[in-house]
Amino acid sequence: MIEILLASNNEGKIKEYEDLLKDYPVKLYLLKDLNIVSDPEENGNSYIENALIKARALKNKTNLYILADDSGVEFEALGSHFPGIHTHRYALENGGNELLNPKLAKEIGGSKATFYCALALITPNKEEYTFLGEVKGSVAKHVEGKNGFGYDPIFIIDGFKHPNAYYSEEIKNKNSHRAKAVMSLISFFKEKNIF
Ligand code: IMP
Repeated sequence: MIEILLASNNEGKIKEYEDLLKDYPVKLYLLKDLNIVSDPEENGNSYIENALIKARALKNKTNLYILADDSGVEFEALGSHFPGIHTHRYALENGGNELLNPKLAKEIGGSKATFYCALALITPNKEEYTFLGEVKGSVAKHVEGKNGFGYDPIFIIDGFKHPNAYYSEEIKNKNSHRAKAVMSLISFFKEKNIF
């Protein structure tokens, strides 16, 4: 059994990591479980850099494995890599996803989008590894569904008819950008005989 401190306070993400890792010998700790407060400035130039910033901020606070992530979406209709690493801020500046999602559905529904998830892992002996998952999809023409979080009511993964929020957690967790990044992490643990 390995112990991993997950560097996130996002309930939606935490639920997904718990589910994605449930069949593996992992005990997940959250920041609040260890009374750790960490909110470093995410001033990297890529998802990977930002995930590393979040993981490194915890380096001296625990000897558990540390797992941090950074994710974002890029809407082809809005220009190159936009909002990308600023995806969270973009939602905040537009009144949150509840207001932004219908606006995007109306304005750029039907256009292509890609979601990315970078993971940064720091091992107990302080080695660093990174993983990247991506999934291609499109913007829905209408907001739909109650599951998931963030942009899930408008992001349709290629090959599906409805946005992520319409489907069960199980379906999203087989196909999402986060699922793909976690699959690479699991392969890494297997290669290193940690699992
Ligand atoms: P961060 O990784 O916490 O910086 O999240 C970046 C932004 O992407 C936030 O606005 C999240 O709501 C959004 N986001 C990240 N992952 C997902 C997802 O799986 N579905 C929908 N929105 C997501």
